[in-house]
Amino acid sequence: MVQWQELEQKYLMQTVNRLPVTLVKGDGIRVWDYDGKEYLDFVGGWAVNTLGHCHPVVVQAITKQAGMLIQTSNQFYTIPQVCLAELLVKNSCFNRVFFSNSGTEANEGAVKLARKYGKAHLNNAHEVITMFNSFHGRTLAMVAATGQEKYQHPYIPLPDGFANVEYDNVAALKEATTSQTCAVMLETVQGEGGVIIPNKSYIKEVRHWCDQKGILLILDEIQTGIARVGTLFSYQRCGVEPDIMTLAKGLGGGIPIGAILAKEKVAVFGPGDHGTTFGGNPLACATSLAVMKYVIEEALPDRVQEVGTHFLGRLEGLRVKLKCITEVRGQGLLIALQFNEDIANKVMLSCLEKGLLINCVKPNVLRFMPPLTVTRDEIDQAIVILGEAITAVTEDS
Ligand code: PLP
Repeated sequence: MVQWQELEQKYLMQTVNRLPVTLVKGDGIRVWDYDGKEYLDFVGGWAVNTLGHCHPVVVQAITKQAGMLIQTSNQFYTIPQVCLAELLVKNSCFNRVFFSNSGTEANEGAVKLARKYGKAHLNNAHEVITMFNSFHGRTLAMVAATGQEKYQHPYIPLPDGFANVEYDNVAALKEATTSQTCAVMLETVQGEGGVIIPNKSYIKEVRHWCDQKGILLILDEIQTGIARVGTLFSYQRCGVEPDIMTLAKGLGGGIPIGAILAKEKVAVFGPGDHGTTFGGNPLACATSLAVMKYVIEEALPDRVQEVGTHFLGRLEGLRVKLKCITEVRGQGLLIALQFNEDIANKVMLSCLEKGLLINCVKPNVLRFMPPLTVTRDEIDQAIVILGEAITAVTEDS
């Protein structure tokens, strides 16, 4: 038998502590490893697999477009790119779109857009305020934007032009705002930060402050967008309209794509200001178009609210039974469970053994991001495995 894991250790840069499973096949919420073992996938490619694995809509879109036109350059018009931009604009509060290949790139572009706006309209202001415990990506600038020491430390000195302040604290934001500030960038729920949900009024208050100062609000909806939290975009749930929004992850249903969406007055990029070789290619856009149409036509945001409530209720049931669970929190199908000690990794490994894939996002926090098509029955199956795993881990220690 081929030792894939040994080969990985030999040939790849060791940037991830991978779990000891080699996945080879997927169908809906199920995946199979190299040895044929089946798992329920509640990681969903880190909130990417909007319709689950190998959904026919996604497979057909890829196959059809791959046989027609995969990539040109952005020197030419291509139909899927235009259609996807139109769909995104018609279903949001934005007027213009730029496509990238990933979330990090979308955020990087959003910051460039805000800086260009700052140069033109805010007396050269260029600084962007972001939050501690955030996650915005892995380029040097996005590491500077990401307010987490562990990601920043190895790369100091970082690009300047970012100030990190406490999340869910409007006073801290106000204090950090200067004449050099051109924008505030934040997540409506800090996903990688452990599914941290701010106070109900926080995002509205941030919007209000940005309006007062004439600075831009950028919402990073890379994890919360595409119905993940029960509305097509999370800003709709918050009751505000940002000036710029970034998307990625669920937008392509598994195919890499990111996007910057902006209001007309902020969409100040002109020819040559920003660009990409692969971004907006026909294959990614045709796939994303099929995913987005399905999400909208099948009313997945409503479905996410319904199954998400069921999931939260079932986890709450576990919390009542198992003393080690201190909190269950989430919106839609972005959910976390917190323990009173650092046992999340052990629970994740026990789940893995029992055929359930989950994500350990902090030493004491598990995160769940299943496909938006997950059923109540699949949630119930996951809950049984999770309950057994937690019991096994706590009885052992
Ligand atoms: N922003 C948020 C909120 C994210 O959750 C992530 C990835 O987890 C990113 C940005 C980076 O996206 P990508 O990994 O596609 O570059």
